[in-house]
Order: sequence, then structure tokens, then C-alpha cells
Amino acid sequence: MIYDPLVSTSVSPLHTKPNSYWHADYQCQTLPSSSVYPFTEKQTDYLVIGGGYTGLSAAISLSEAGKSVTVIDAHALGFGCSGRNAGFVLSGSGRLSLSAIQDKWGPETATGMQQEFDSAVALLFERIERYNMQVDLVKGPYYKLAHTQKQAALLHASANAMNRQFNGNAELLSQDDIASRFSIRSVHGGVQTPGACVNPLKLVDEYARVALAKGAQLLYQTPALRIEDKKSYFNVITEKGPIRAKHILLATNAYTPKQFHSSIDTKHFPVQSSILVTAPLNKEMQQETGLNHAASFMDTRTMKYYYRVLPDGRLLFGGRGAVTGKDADNEKEKQRLFNAMAASFPSLRHIAVDHFWSGWVSVSMDSMPRIFTTDEGRIGYAMGYCGSGVSFSAFAGMRLAQRMLGDNSINLSLPLYDTPLPTYPLPQLRRLALQGLYQWAKIFER
Ligand SMILES: Cc1cc2nc3c(=O)[nH]c(=O)nc-3n(C[C@H](O)[C@H](O)[C@H](O)COP(=O)(O)OP(=O)(O)OC[C@H]3O[C@@H](n4cnc5c(N)ncnc54)[C@H](O)[C@@H]3O)c2cc1C
Repeated sequence: MIYDPLVSTSVSPLHTKPNSYWHADYQCQTLPSSSVYPFTEKQTDYLVIGGGYTGLSAAISLSEAGKSVTVIDAHALGFGCSGRNAGFVLSGSGRLSLSAIQDKWGPETATGMQQEFDSAVALLFERIERYNMQVDLVKGPYYKLAHTQKQAALLHASANAMNRQFNGNAELLSQDDIASRFSIRSVHGGVQTPGACVNPLKLVDEYARVALAKGAQLLYQTPALRIEDKKSYFNVITEKGPIRAKHILLATNAYTPKQFHSSIDTKHFPVQSSILVTAPLNKEMQQETGLNHAASFMDTRTMKYYYRVLPDGRLLFGGRGAVTGKDADNEKEKQRLFNAMAASFPSLRHIAVDHFWSGWVSVSMDSMPRIFTTDEGRIGYAMGYCGSGVSFSAFAGMRLAQRMLGDNSINLSLPLYDTPLPTYPLPQLRRLALQGLYQWAKIFER
């Protein structure tokens, strides 16, 4: 049974585990879920609901501030996006580029946002080093590739602006530059920046290890079913027993069940992204494609394709998934993604696919994530990363913790912080609109 956040009112330990390349290769070391038993009542100052990067990172920051913290997750470690993403360490979150942010809010806001995005990447690298995290960090070039000539011109103009205004280090590449390095169909130019990738599941495991070492309590297979506001405290009913908490952090992102809490219901749109991992490329395939070293790629389509060469020489290739959860593992979906991969790399059209899986990303209505508190600071949430959260969600978890602790060093005038997530009008039509967008992309974004 595949979890669908627009259908289910709870994540259940019975929902199908991700069948990912990461899970096939690695067993999480921190707190096996079998160690979780029913309890009569627990008390905590801060209850974090959701044990992905956002929740675990918030727990680390709250524990460092000396607070009593409990993290609960409905499923096992890494069940949500955090255990099943592509592992690209991207600077930024949401779907707006810095140039778009500048056009909408002006240069000061764009600079403030760039500082937050840069700090997110720096925080990840700093924690990897400080806690000796074993996350298979690989550094290598990151290529943004234009799928049309018009997009190439826009990409180059935006990279030039980034270099000028934000001290960027983007290298502009022509169609011929790309063709001299890789054999990828339908690429009309690109931009290269330094990139990095990690094993995402190992990263969740390492965050969990650090959170535990700092004193946080982690409970898995413990779905929060209901939040009762008793005014001086919250009583959170879970499948394992009640938890009394003074503060609640919602870190459920795209995996938030239907009608879970009024502060986030209908304020984001969970959309599926799917990934396939091929068999290792042989020497001939590596030579023909140019995929013979660590590198990561993303294109400029509205329905983006993203891919990277894995340390064992396989190609990871991702793109949009099925509209509903029940169709996530459908053979047709896998074939559609494979066809997209083979259209980009014709020499791989006979390669075996060893892994295929999907996950939900949280899309906010204005493409901007939010880190926000409500109920006089008693409840907070961080979500809406639009598929870009390997570095940023952990930073958001830290910022959410700081916000709930009353830290006034945060620039709360930035759009990340100054308003709640906007509500989707006619939320019941979200999937219909998505289907329409996919049809449009099928015709116009080949
Ligand atoms: C296929 C895919 C590829 C991606 N690739 C990249 C990438 O390469 N780079 C990048 O930057 N970002 C990527 N992302 C996005 C990134 O993975 C997410 O932004 C990030 O992991 C979000 O972390 P999180 O902790 O907020 O949410 P999650 O990791 O999804 O955690 C939410 C948790 O909440 C739990 N939960 C939900 N409801 C309850 C409840 N009622 N009670 C208890 N627990 C509950 C769930 O079980 C889940 O574990 C990708 C996402 C997907 C799906």
C-alpha cells in the first residue's frame, strides 16, 4: 500500500517502504524501529512530528539549547523524502531563482535570501565535518542544461547576473562546449557550477545519530493521529500512546496526511517525483555518453529531469512521477521515465534498470518555502521546499528551532519568514490542474 498524502489521514507503519537504491544498499544503524513499544504517557517540552532532515535538524538545535525534545515519525528512519531523494546538494530551495526573487522583492531581499541559501549549504558541510558524518560526499561539477535555445539565452543571462550581483562562480557553456564533454540529446547550452552529492539515507541516519547523542528522544513507527490543544499544553495522540508537549514542530513536509493540522492543510501540494537507477555503465557506454566521472545535471524544463553519475558508475535519472500514489509503481511510469532517459542518452537505450521508486515533494503555491510559527509561537512548521531540500530543509529545521526559541537574530522580513504558507484556492482541483500541466509538458517540452 503506497502512501498518498491527499488520500490517507495517517502515515502508517504498514505503508510500503521505499524500494530505493539507497535502501537496497544500506541498513540504518540508528534506533531500529523494532525498539519502539507502546507507552502510557510521555512528556516533552518540544515535540517534533516528522523524522526527516527538517525534524532531526530542529531536534539537534533544540537539544543544543538544553531543551527536552522528542521526535516522532510515523514510519521508519528515512521513510519520507529524506531517505529517498537524489542526494544533490543544491544552493537554494523552492522554485524561484535569485533573479526571480530580485524581480519580485528587490535586491535587498534577494541578497538576504542568498545568504540563507549559502548558509544552508555551509551548515551541511560544517556538520559533515564536525560530526564525521559518513554520507558518501562526492564533489564534482553541477550542470544546468538548457533544453531550448531560448532557455539557453535565459540561463546565460541569469548566470551573468548571478556572477555580477551575487559573486557567483557560474561558467557559461555553449552547445558545443557541452557536446565536447557529453553526448546528451536536446541540449542547447548550459551553466557549470561546483556541485556536491551525498547518499541521502546515510545523511538521515547520521542526523539521527547526532540528535540522539545530543539528548533528543527519537521514536519511530509512532504516527501522530491528533493534536489536542489544552491551552497550557498540547496532548498529541499517537498510535503508541499520548504525548504531552508545550511546543509542537510540524516537520512532516510533503508527507503531511490529509486534514492533519489547520496551519498547513491545503497550504501545499504534494507532487510525486520518480527516480530510476540503471545498471553500472560499461566502459563503452561511459565513453559514448561522457558519463565517466562524478557530475550532476538538471535541465530547464518545467517538469525537470535531473541525473547524476553514482559512485559505482550507475546513472541515477529522475523526473516527474505519477499523479496519484496508487499509480506510483506502475510499469507505465517506469517506462515513461526510462524513455526520457533513453531520449537523452540513446546509447543507453538497452541498459537494465535495477531500481525505480518515487517520493512526494511539497510544492508551495508561490514556490517559496516557509519557516513559520503560529498560536503565539506554540506551533511551528517548516515546509514547501518544492523538491530542493537536501541542504535547505536541515537549515530550515535549525531556523524553526531558533524561531521557536525566540532568537531575534533571524531576518524575519524575508519571504521565508514573514508570512504563512498561502492557501491553495480550490484545493480539490490541484490534481486536475497537475494533469493538465503534464499534458501541456508532453506536447511542448519534449
Ligand atoms: C524523488 C525525490 C528526489 C529529490 N531529490 C532531491 C535532491 O537531489 N536535492 C534536494 O535538495 N532535494 C531533493 N528532494 C527533496 C528533499 O528530499 C526534501 O526537500 C527533504 O528531504 C525534506 O525533508 P523533510 O524532513 O522536510 O521531510 P521528509 O523527509 O519527507 O520527512 C517527513 C516525515 O514526516 C513523517 N510524518 C508524516 N506525518 C506524520 C505523522 N502524522 N506522525 C509522525 N510522522 C509523520 C513521515 O513519515 C516522514 O518521514 C527530492 C525529493 C524527492 C521525493
